[in-house]
Amino acid sequence: MGKNFFVILFILWVSRAHGLLLSWPTVISPLTKNATRRIDECIQRTESGKLESGKFGFVRENGTKFHGGIDIKSFLKNGNGTPSDSVHAFMDGQVVYRNTSPNASNYGCYIILAHPYFLTLYAHLASIDVEVGQSVRAGQKIGVLGKTSNATKIPNERAHLHFEIDFQLGDGDHFAHWYGANFTDKNLHGAFNGLNLVGIDPIAAVEKLIGGVKPIDLFVAEKEAMTLRIMGNYVPQFLEKYAPLVAKDVDLTRPVKGWIIEFTWFGLPKKWTPIYNSDSEQPRLKLLSYRKSLLRNAVLREVLREKNGSVSMGPRTIHTLKKMGFIVD
Ligand SMILES: [Zn+2]
Repeated sequence: MGKNFFVILFILWVSRAHGLLLSWPTVISPLTKNATRRIDECIQRTESGKLESGKFGFVRENGTKFHGGIDIKSFLKNGNGTPSDSVHAFMDGQVVYRNTSPNASNYGCYIILAHPYFLTLYAHLASIDVEVGQSVRAGQKIGVLGKTSNATKIPNERAHLHFEIDFQLGDGDHFAHWYGANFTDKNLHGAFNGLNLVGIDPIAAVEKLIGGVKPIDLFVAEKEAMTLRIMGNYVPQFLEKYAPLVAKDVDLTRPVKGWIIEFTWFGLPKKWTPIYNSDSEQPRLKLLSYRKSLLRNAVLREVLREKNGSVSMGPRTIHTLKKMGFIVD
């Protein structure tokens, strides 16, 4: 107990900008005052040996395979070589989901915490200390780093915590409907299925938060890769949940005729502008613009599609709209 107490004290040193307290999600932290390692030294590389491979983005298989979080290295091992690093809550929050069946997900055993403006996800865990509904404090131990996954066999020497900072696209009902229309197997994780989450780069987020950026401003700063317009009076729950984030000046009680939505290259619908007046002749769904410099990544991520030199919305964008409950033909 005494030893754990001191470990937690070290973790909690981190950042109090704007009253915000955050903790590196594993016990060996690069963020503490006396840290001996930089963030890069805490990243677990894939078999390729490349540093980038443990980071966020198109970092695998020569830049063609996407990684939606970061892999944080295990530093502590039991006598038999299995990892023993404790895993800690990134910020104050609440446990909204835990999966304790290692074979039920490529995340293996995982926990999702809800914070004011986003979720954090902790995957491949060996064990879980918290229950759904429980409140946790930044730095509180929530589990132990492990190697669980139904997809990849993770050797001891590459054991890691897969960590994501996420948004949830669909509410339970709309995501369930979308899942049923696209898959025949059972969705074991409800709205906390990885297919319903869109992550941002956790390292960039950590650096910004430590630099004093407010959580609410983390996503607004993301560049848009694509802007679309969708007509209709529908207001997805996504907007109610993330309204302060994506639509600062929007009055959700005023009836809308449609939305102009900006997407990041990785598929986060990050800015919403309501349309209050319109003529009815407009096509229901239209690509308005895209950013050339982000086209490659947006196409790889299927946010956009490029065929014979012409650019259109990609399948990921259409699926995202459907998960959120928009009717899209
Ligand atoms: Zn990973």
